Amino acid sequence: MSGIIAGNGKSEQQLYEILRTIPDEDILCFLSTESTDKECSGLPVLSYEKGILLYRSGKVDHFYVTPGEKLKADATAYSFLRLGVSENDIWYVSQNYDITPFFERRELSYLEYQVADNCNMNCSSCSHYSNLIKGNVLSDLESTRNGFLSLKKYVDNICLIRVLGGEPLINPELDKYIAMNREIFPDSRIEIVTNGILVNKMPDALIRSIKENRIVMNISFYPAMKDRMADVTAHLDSLNIPYFVSPMISEFSKVTDPSGSQNAADSFKKCTWRYCTMLRDDRLGLCAFSFLTKYFNEYYTEYRLPESGSFSLNEADLTTEKIMRRLNVPIEFCSYCKQPGDPCKWKHGPAGFGSPEDIIIDSI
Ligand code: SF4
Ligand code: SF4
Repeated sequence: MSGIIAGNGKSEQQLYEILRTIPDEDILCFLSTESTDKECSGLPVLSYEKGILLYRSGKVDHFYVTPGEKLKADATAYSFLRLGVSENDIWYVSQNYDITPFFERRELSYLEYQVADNCNMNCSSCSHYSNLIKGNVLSDLESTRNGFLSLKKYVDNICLIRVLGGEPLINPELDKYIAMNREIFPDSRIEIVTNGILVNKMPDALIRSIKENRIVMNISFYPAMKDRMADVTAHLDSLNIPYFVSPMISEFSKVTDPSGSQNAADSFKKCTWRYCTMLRDDRLGLCAFSFLTKYFNEYYTEYRLPESGSFSLNEADLTTEKIMRRLNVPIEFCSYCKQPGDPCKWKHGPAGFGSPEDIIIDSI
């Protein structure tokens, strides 16, 4: 049998060291989207196009796909499927190097969940519609824990869990949420995604929990924090908490098309958010719109956009494979979602307020 390894980073090179010890398994090359005129571990590095040509010519039997450093397994497998690779020829390699058919994998690359739906920044084009919410809307710790426990029946590991809002630091029980995440998924990388406003006011219990549970702070840098970000990072440095800060975000993208006239398959194909699997209580959704469209509908009562796109983890007869397949198909909202969206300048406003021109795409 002959195989190709998608990617050529550290994890793919380690995978090669394992695969080369398997009798009858001949690894031909690595694939890369970058420079391909080089070798890696003594094997050639080819472009993805050349890899597909080798497959079509019958010279290669299967591809190995790993989450890799950039958690691109889902996107890579999806491209292979679109290019005519049989799903039986795409093998997923987990972070622990377990090899399974792609749709039978017991590992999610990525999962996000919200602990507060509202936010203290209220960006006018917030894709989670947080700016349309007035007052605190917090998640329930026990329901969230039960959701994670239900998910654990089907998934052994999640490579990256991101704790989101709205603004997650608004939730006074955030310390307990991250401890719960670490307990249920001990090997995950866990990040709190914050706009930074409340970082310097984090209570001791949260600081302790962040350190004990090996959490990374992921700071989205908006223009409103220009003069305060140095204080935020100095505070995290003094606490010895790991963090990274995004480049300044001064442009947003509007995707909501209330006419529903987008081609769902096309939007889904182009979408970079479609691997942003979201958990909410005991339900799993393809992306944030599976759950948060209700805020758009409540605010703009003249519209009624689909609020579907999630399923219960307590459904009878659910299997890991059924979950993975459901996360690989468009949802109803994809017809209401322009991808890529229309660019617009970042600005923010009062809580509970949204101008249609800041949220709805330009051509409506
Ligand atoms: S910081 Fe802005 S984009 Fe992020 S959740 Fe808050 S309002 Fe939305
Ligand atoms: S609704 Fe579809 S196109 Fe829009 S973000 Fe979700 S997956 Fe992407």
